[in-house]
Amino acid sequence: MVGGGGLGGPLVYALGAAGARVVVLDDDVVELSNLQRQVQFVTADLGRVKAGAIAAEGARRGATVIGVRARLDAASADLMLAGADVVVDGTDSPAIKLLVGDWATARGVPHVIAGVLRWGGTVFSGAPGAACFRCLFEDAPDDAPSCADAGVIGAACAVIGGLAARAALALASGVHADAGSILVVEDLRRGWAPRRVRFGPRPGCPACAAAPRPHPS
Ligand SMILES: [Zn+2]
Repeated sequence: MVGGGGLGGPLVYALGAAGARVVVLDDDVVELSNLQRQVQFVTADLGRVKAGAIAAEGARRGATVIGVRARLDAASADLMLAGADVVVDGTDSPAIKLLVGDWATARGVPHVIAGVLRWGGTVFSGAPGAACFRCLFEDAPDDAPSCADAGVIGAACAVIGGLAARAALALASGVHADAGSILVVEDLRRGWAPRRVRFGPRPGCPACAAAPRPHPS
């Protein structure tokens, strides 16, 4: 799991309770303004490293959660992500989302890329042979509103984090039916039924055109 914040909490709760061994990468510390949406932390955690605090919370609930204080970048991705059965991004960084998608696509690792903003969010599922995250988003936008600027409703983190956990568990179980699709929750205030958008590989996509394909069975 990349990111131990607003999506990281619901993800750790759901994945840990399902028996998954979770490694969380995050380089941030807990701040007061996080507590409204990062339900895994309490006031006693203020100033603590999120990776350590989320691991402690996982352990308290009997889950196997390992926290690593690190910010993922291109140079560290092989070291940090190698060996994962599924990689889950729950960061608020478009650049890291593309990095996770590119890394996982190039190595044939199933992955989930989840994002939340204001009252809604998205959950992308990827696996070998399916369209990748970069087929949909060619590059990180220059003007994307950040969570800090635009705000995130706590309940939206719970919904999107739960949907992301469900997607990760499906991939971990070998169910790739949703790969190459993105689940969209537009606005929780207008009913929360998500919309699934399926798309095909973009011809010439630099991330997946030459990536590993599934072996014919
Ligand atoms: Zn692609």
